[in-house]
Amino acid sequence: MKFTILLKKEDDTTVPPMVTQIERAGSLQASALGLTLSESKHLLSRIQQEIVQSQIRHHAEAQRICRQCGTRRMLKDYRPAFFKSLFGSVKLTIPRLFGCGCDGVAPGARTLRLDGTVNRVALELECIQSHLAATVPYASASKLLGLLLPVDANNAVSTVRRRALAVARRLEMELNQATVEDKPSSTHVDNCATISIGLDSGFIRDCSPQSNRSFEVIVGRVLGPNAGSRSLGFVRTLENDERVRHRLRHRVAQQGLTTERMTVFTDGDAGLRCLQLAVLPNASQKLLEYLKNNADSLVDYGKRYRAGQRISTSFIDSAVNQLIDKRMSKSQQMRWSRYGAHLLFQVRADVVDGRLADNFRRWYPGFDSGAVASSTA
Ligand SMILES: [Zn+2]
Repeated sequence: MKFTILLKKEDDTTVPPMVTQIERAGSLQASALGLTLSESKHLLSRIQQEIVQSQIRHHAEAQRICRQCGTRRMLKDYRPAFFKSLFGSVKLTIPRLFGCGCDGVAPGARTLRLDGTVNRVALELECIQSHLAATVPYASASKLLGLLLPVDANNAVSTVRRRALAVARRLEMELNQATVEDKPSSTHVDNCATISIGLDSGFIRDCSPQSNRSFEVIVGRVLGPNAGSRSLGFVRTLENDERVRHRLRHRVAQQGLTTERMTVFTDGDAGLRCLQLAVLPNASQKLLEYLKNNADSLVDYGKRYRAGQRISTSFIDSAVNQLIDKRMSKSQQMRWSRYGAHLLFQVRADVVDGRLADNFRRWYPGFDSGAVASSTA
């Protein structure tokens, strides 16, 4: 039995005449029922190659016509390039076109641009690699993708790490530029809602050859009144108090809330208490030592319970487990640079919250990745 896979365009032409053939001979065996993984990878890469090359040819032809005057622009030459995607690398010849000069600008030759792509890397490839890199070790992420998809040379361990950390740097840049005190990012701002912020710390191994020690990381979770949550994590020594305050308020603002009415939960660690007092001095505490020493300001647990408000700290344990233990714990024998760990926390937090793809949709309008839209670590 022979199957021929064709790719038909809207004008009913098939280019090329055949994408691939799949053949089964002899009596049916379980091993030959349906597509094999290697056949599916070959099929996907061939279809991707034909679609991308056709799209580029169509786009290049459209771009040759000047938008201002309609003149057909001169072609200088072609430059080789690769489009890297989840379904393989596609070799391209990208034209360099002269400007027509009708706008008074010297008509120098420029390489055709593809809007919305960075270094001609498919957005889904960046998103999926970042998601996996924040979920499992970089080497495992690379191996897993290569096992299932024809990602070939775009999937080296160093590439997976670099792409994930590039996403983190962009998130950090957005945080730097955010003004959160007066303008939360959400359009819905509820100033009366009570929120809970849980903070805890952990230690991960330092990769520095001069150090056999660990360094401290802080993780947290912001819970709004409607059960929505946002996670956060950072390396303590890389953040001053002002920066931590900004980070916390930004997370709260992303929930459509402000830090007017909040309760901070910690496990009683003295360092966390100092941090909380420095960055959120007006919050209510549940800090055990603080409660013992400051009976006058005790939060009324019974009243909170009867009012249906949070008194459990299990959500902090969950944050530690999800943000530190599952990806960075000492038991996994991993060592980290402080900055590398700090950056990965930024991606990891959004993956845990199921919001990584939201960032890509914000950065690249029209981006659609249903596969990672709601998946979490
Ligand atoms: Zn023109």
